[in-house]
Amino acid sequence: MTPPPITDDLGRTVNYMRLSVTDRCNLRCSYCRVGGGPVLPHKDIMRYEEMVELAKLAQSLNIAKLRLTGGEPFARPGFPKLLEMLAQSCPGLDVRITTNGTLLKGMPRLLMELGITRINISLDSLNPDTFKDITGHDLFHTVRAAVDECLEHGLKVKLNVVALKGVNDSELPAFLDLAMAQPLDLRFIEFMPMGQSQRQDEQYWSSDQIVASAGKLVDLTPIDRKSADSGPAQLFSLTGPQGPGKGRLGVISPLSHHFCSTCNRLRITSSGRLRTCLFSDREYRLLPLLRSPQHGPE
Ligand code: SAM
Repeated sequence: MTPPPITDDLGRTVNYMRLSVTDRCNLRCSYCRVGGGPVLPHKDIMRYEEMVELAKLAQSLNIAKLRLTGGEPFARPGFPKLLEMLAQSCPGLDVRITTNGTLLKGMPRLLMELGITRINISLDSLNPDTFKDITGHDLFHTVRAAVDECLEHGLKVKLNVVALKGVNDSELPAFLDLAMAQPLDLRFIEFMPMGQSQRQDEQYWSSDQIVASAGKLVDLTPIDRKSADSGPAQLFSLTGPQGPGKGRLGVISPLSHHFCSTCNRLRITSSGRLRTCLFSDREYRLLPLLRSPQHGPE
């Protein structure tokens, strides 16, 4: 018998899981707590077999979407093997990836073959120098080429841009030009101050400010969230002087407009810790259960 969907005490249905494939990253983004910090010993990171076991279990509990993230997922050796294992073991599971795009070259064809049709790529600047300043690496052109390669192979691309006042706000017109010209969803994410992040509050650029500024450059038409499969993003279609844009603009507002009431997700760290809320440090250790099921919950 199929178990009922997972619902929480507030009646929200949970059907989406984010799984961090690794705690390591090959970039050092100034606003992010992942890169550069201490890393876990390999023995404490879930093996691919354990991740697949967890994905199978999640799918049996009606989790329909699995997002693989990190750290940088493609930086973990053998990551394509995990994708193949998931395709084999979890048919029908909608697997998506969030990546910085630096290691994507040559991958889009394989992704499509494995049924992975949606990818989120982080790209915080269209200026190579600013990109290097933010990430610590001179890889703008690599990521930009990866975006094109994904689009050429028919992947649906969301471009994640962390909104940083004084850093990339002057690039709003260039980002809108890109979304006018290419069929991708541009998504500005409000900067969330976290852990070791070096960025300060004065760099906070709210989604309301972004939408107001964008509205002066192009016509914005809000898109209904449910019909758009937009997750926490508020999406807009774009119309410029030459007509409708090929892409769309989205804003994600974790700070200014909490989306807790529509939250449908679980998060699993690379060491197998379950987190039910982005804003809470409370964790449940799943790895001991995966490795020795007879132990039971701690
Ligand atoms: N390495 C992958 C990447 O760069 O997309 C996946 C991991 S990264 C932590 C996932 C997303 O979180 C990226 O889009 C990144 O820009 C975003 N992010 C990281 N730190 C953030 C912060 N302090 N505020 C807002 N977004 C942040």
